[in-house]
Amino acid sequence: MTHSRLLRRLLRQRATLFWAAVVLVVLAGAAFAPLLAPFGPDDGNIREGLASPSAEHLLGTDKLGRDVFSRLMFGAQIALLAAFEAVGIAVLVGVPLGLLSGYLGGWLDRIAMRIVEGVMSVPFLVLAIALISILGPGLAKSMAVVGVVYATIMLRLTRGLTLAAREELYVDGVRVTGGSDRRILFQHVLPNILPALIVQVTLMLAGAIVAEATLSFLGLGVQAPAASWGTMLSDAQASIRESFFLALPPGVAILITVLAFNQVGDGLRDLFAREAKGGSLGVNPVQPVVGSPVAALPGASVPDPLLRVSDLTVSFPGADGSPMEVVQGVSLDVGRGEIVGLVGESGSGKSVTAMALLGLVPDPGRVAAATVALDGQELTGRTFDELRAVRGGRIGVVFQEPIASLNPAYTVGDQVAEVLREHTDMGREEVARRVVELFEQVHVPDPQLRMRDYPHQFSGGMAQRVMIAMALACRPQLLIADEPTTALDVTVQGQVLDLLLELRGSTGMSILLITHDLGVVADVADRVAVMYAGQLVEAGPTAEVFARPAHPYTEGLLGSLPRNVRRVGRLPSIPGVVPPPAQWPQSCHFAQRCRYAQDRCRAAPVELLASQPGPARAARCVRSGELELTGVAEAPDRALVPTEEGR
Ligand code: SF4
Repeated sequence: MTHSRLLRRLLRQRATLFWAAVVLVVLAGAAFAPLLAPFGPDDGNIREGLASPSAEHLLGTDKLGRDVFSRLMFGAQIALLAAFEAVGIAVLVGVPLGLLSGYLGGWLDRIAMRIVEGVMSVPFLVLAIALISILGPGLAKSMAVVGVVYATIMLRLTRGLTLAAREELYVDGVRVTGGSDRRILFQHVLPNILPALIVQVTLMLAGAIVAEATLSFLGLGVQAPAASWGTMLSDAQASIRESFFLALPPGVAILITVLAFNQVGDGLRDLFAREAKGGSLGVNPVQPVVGSPVAALPGASVPDPLLRVSDLTVSFPGADGSPMEVVQGVSLDVGRGEIVGLVGESGSGKSVTAMALLGLVPDPGRVAAATVALDGQELTGRTFDELRAVRGGRIGVVFQEPIASLNPAYTVGDQVAEVLREHTDMGREEVARRVVELFEQVHVPDPQLRMRDYPHQFSGGMAQRVMIAMALACRPQLLIADEPTTALDVTVQGQVLDLLLELRGSTGMSILLITHDLGVVADVADRVAVMYAGQLVEAGPTAEVFARPAHPYTEGLLGSLPRNVRRVGRLPSIPGVVPPPAQWPQSCHFAQRCRYAQDRCRAAPVELLASQPGPARAARCVRSGELELTGVAEAPDRALVPTEEGR
């Protein structure tokens, strides 16, 4: 799918195809020079020296009577072989070292980067000439030196790309499934950074051709009488008084070949960039699963929801390459004007669920769902391009780390305006008016002035208000807020939550609030859905779930909240951590950490079912009907205090 789409896009890039054809002609000319060239590279009759172009000698002859056209073809052979030698060394040395340096870091990275900085601090040609002076002239040696210098460039590029790729979700996915470092590097990181490396290779080939010609011209590369474009230029310079024409064929050959490689590189860069932004490269759409949506459950479902998610599953390749599910069959509704809190510890799958809803799970992740419907409109099966109109338009998104989410190079006003320009056909003045209106809506003081400020001039809380303004720009029906208060201090957290409540009231939008903090949910959410190890384990109205949880995990989370009672001893916590997906059992995922676990909990998969404590409750626990779990209740000041419920 991806390859045929890439090919179709490539076929539409006429200029790239033209220059690729030029490269092919040069390659073919070089490869078949012994067959196609009318003369050998050194065949010549000095009495025919400096002959003008003719039918016998298409580009004339040089001072020694050698056919310029034939030497040009053999010169192409040398130029390309030299370029492949240099770039081959750069790839073989630079790419593996860059991968290891970027992925492992530590002493290897420090040593590699000091070497790279040392090499790059000296101008390329000066360094090459110095090294060749030590090693002695000759094509193989000079191009080996060029290759080593290029290897440092390749190392730096690969390291940078690897540093970014290792933080990606799909790498985390493979890591938590027990994938080895070698597998992560060569099966997951390398394929994803390959497009950028391919572009760099084409640009380096062009550079290596120029380097070979330069070094040969200076007498440090190919040695006379061998035919290379550099030695031909050198010969032409020696005869410049008798014939200026001799410099033209090798000069034009170098110009066209270098231009062709550069144009192909630029074309590929455009192609990959367009695919990464709007194609199937890098992210995968939500695939509809065959079958009907799972039955609506009390607690997780509401009548006529704005967002309906049914049987959502996200998987990444496991250690043996088979799909490893990191989110399993999540079904959840968000009602109109409702705030739903999706809570769980790190590794529970809540953020991956949000990414899946937005169609942003990166390759090689796979997303499938029976339904993901927004206001009745099905989103499964939509491409990245088709979902673009939904993201930022009908669904607004707010992430944690607001300062990091804003581009430091643009004013905050520009960044909000960009969303409007992308999703609406508003004119300039209308956009400016709307930006001011949005800043007023999120209570940024002096909006006319502050919209011209840069992100670093904003505090964390104010920057989050800007992010919320961006999310609201197109009047979304649904706001997905992923840990919107995590990076903020407590007083600012409260202000941001109050703002979300106020905006829900004034706009009527729904909010899916993803957080690890039950205190945040208690403050604003109408309904809460608790995730553990990739599964929804409990759902229901917030007040009811807090007062009387139906799942031991929810009880554990509530028990570990700091409460406004006199604390005696250490704050309670749930023993252990969320196990990685590779260790999730078929039966209850929480059994390992559950104080109420019995043999029957480990006997078979546990379904999310309607649960006893109330009519709108659901829990994934075989004992939920018999356990009396301890909850908390909201005090008038919104702080959380224990209920009188006993066990
Ligand atoms: S099914 Fe058993 S192990 Fe799982 S949460 Fe319920 S009581 Fe605990």
